[in-house]
Amino acid sequence: MNKTVNPNILRMTNIYAPTLKEDPSDADITSAKLLVRAGMIRKEAGGLYSFLPLGLRVLHKIENIVREEMDATGAQELLLPFLQRAELWKESGRWNDYGPELLRVLDRHQNEFCLSPTHEEIITNLMKNELRSYKDLPKNFYQIQIKFRDEIRPRFGLLRSREFMMKDAYSFNATAESVDETYADMRDAYCKMCERMGMEYRIVQADPGQIGGNATEEFMALAETGEAELVYCDCGYAADVEVGECSPSPEQYPADELKKVATPGVHTIAELAEFLGCSEAATAKAFSGKDAEGNVWVLFVPGNYEVNECKAARVVPGFEPLTDEDMEKSGLVKGSMGPVGLPAGVRVAADESLRSIERWVVGANDDGYHFVGAKLGEDFQVDAWGDICTVHVGDACPVCGKPLSGARGIEVAQIFKLGEKYSRQMNATYMAEDGTEKPFVMGCYGVGVSRCMAAIVEQCNDEHGMFWPANVAPAHVCIIPLTVGDEEVYPVAEKLAEELSALGLEVVIDDRKERAGVKFADADLIGWPLQVVVGKRGLAEGTIELKRRKTGEKVSVSLDALKGARKFVQEYGRPESGERLTEFIKQLF
Ligand code: ATP
Ligand code: MG
Repeated sequence: MNKTVNPNILRMTNIYAPTLKEDPSDADITSAKLLVRAGMIRKEAGGLYSFLPLGLRVLHKIENIVREEMDATGAQELLLPFLQRAELWKESGRWNDYGPELLRVLDRHQNEFCLSPTHEEIITNLMKNELRSYKDLPKNFYQIQIKFRDEIRPRFGLLRSREFMMKDAYSFNATAESVDETYADMRDAYCKMCERMGMEYRIVQADPGQIGGNATEEFMALAETGEAELVYCDCGYAADVEVGECSPSPEQYPADELKKVATPGVHTIAELAEFLGCSEAATAKAFSGKDAEGNVWVLFVPGNYEVNECKAARVVPGFEPLTDEDMEKSGLVKGSMGPVGLPAGVRVAADESLRSIERWVVGANDDGYHFVGAKLGEDFQVDAWGDICTVHVGDACPVCGKPLSGARGIEVAQIFKLGEKYSRQMNATYMAEDGTEKPFVMGCYGVGVSRCMAAIVEQCNDEHGMFWPANVAPAHVCIIPLTVGDEEVYPVAEKLAEELSALGLEVVIDDRKERAGVKFADADLIGWPLQVVVGKRGLAEGTIELKRRKTGEKVSVSLDALKGARKFVQEYGRPESGERLTEFIKQLF
């Protein structure tokens, strides 16, 4: 057992990577299927995953990229408790506000705690006793730790799990300008992280949601399978559709008085427009909900748009859609809601764009009937106005006016300027230069480390499996000897492994006594960036075969090709030390 092991040479016989031929039946997205099939993760229960050794190697690679980029900004790593006292959450007000995603537990003394979904409370409480003076500021602390959120629908494998790995950072600054600087540093660092991970991404304006604060952006890994929808423009503008500014152009339906029209069999806006012989933009669409106090609201948007619930919550605080049952209880007529003659107490909100429409086409609160010519300010009133429509691809860019493009993405990271939200609430102050006590101005910055792993797979896969960008691959090169234990092929494979590892690469040898087909399939599935095939026939001519996993390109090169590799290393340094592994691999071809 007293073997000296080169940590940069892995052996398949010594790696627990149980690959599967079939997709697991309960995996609902490519990354989950492939990570399970490649023996990297296993599902334990809904939203709970175990990382097997190869999967953990990838997770560690991502963590290290994140750590290096955070350290490079001067942020300092620490580790906070995973179990948090309820008192802190009561102090910040989130014990009530966070909702059922916060998993609350009692200890044996009946004290209330929660599993950490995020750490603003605990770090604000910690730092209010540590950072006393403006001379201590600014400071930025981060940790890489498990988070727990009792997601209502955990799904998509590591993309939306209940337990997941996050890097979270919190900055304590004296002024808003200082937070701006830290925020800009974090933004740069996050760009570097995404680039090093080989991710195709876009930064978008986002909704602050539960965390609070006033300015925030999300980093979206572009993927058709992403849950987020975004719009962007060549001018640089980009936004999550949850916040994307929208300015519809509703049309005036020609009517000069209020008229109730029988509209039998009309259920949708498209049917209504066809029935009336007008465009959908000449009608108003209704959507019902309630605010934080339980007041019922009906929201109106131009017929060719949808109400955006996230934006609606900014106009109607705490906005939540009504269930069919709630609608019935409130006396609302689904399919025929309109602002004229609503039940008493029901309030009306509308999209800003409808202000310019004098007479509206709306439901008559009477099944099978609509009003045309309903006059704003006379036949009905609007209690609240705002931008509440979901922006469409093709709408005018709010910055330059050109048509917006659309894409789907996976939110891998988000950065926030929190301002004084937590420090005021929790009385976290420092002594300012003028001798007065002032609340910290804060920022917080999160990366979904385990979500990144799955997002990379969503971008880097084909019908054979995954292909990892070199910087996050479980190892860089897989050497596949076609025969094992013979005197010719295997020693060459071992020697190649030594040489490549001496050049700074992480190498794996598939030393299993398996058929070549099995080894090829597994190498493709697991996704090592470079495969080196060593076989009897090639060696007879002094050659080995190289395959780039991502492109499938294959070349037969003489064993001396490694001289080229050595030259590369002499010239540029170890490929590992820069971002040059891909270049290095190209050099070999
Ligand atoms: P989402 O909108 O996807 O629920 P969030 O905006 O609530 O995420 P943040 O509070 O911004 O999440 O957390 C920081 C990062 O943690 C996110 O950008 C994301 O990458 C990751 N993350 C959040 N929730 C999950 C989850 N359920 N599973 C995996 N990663 C997650
Ligand atoms: Mg977020």
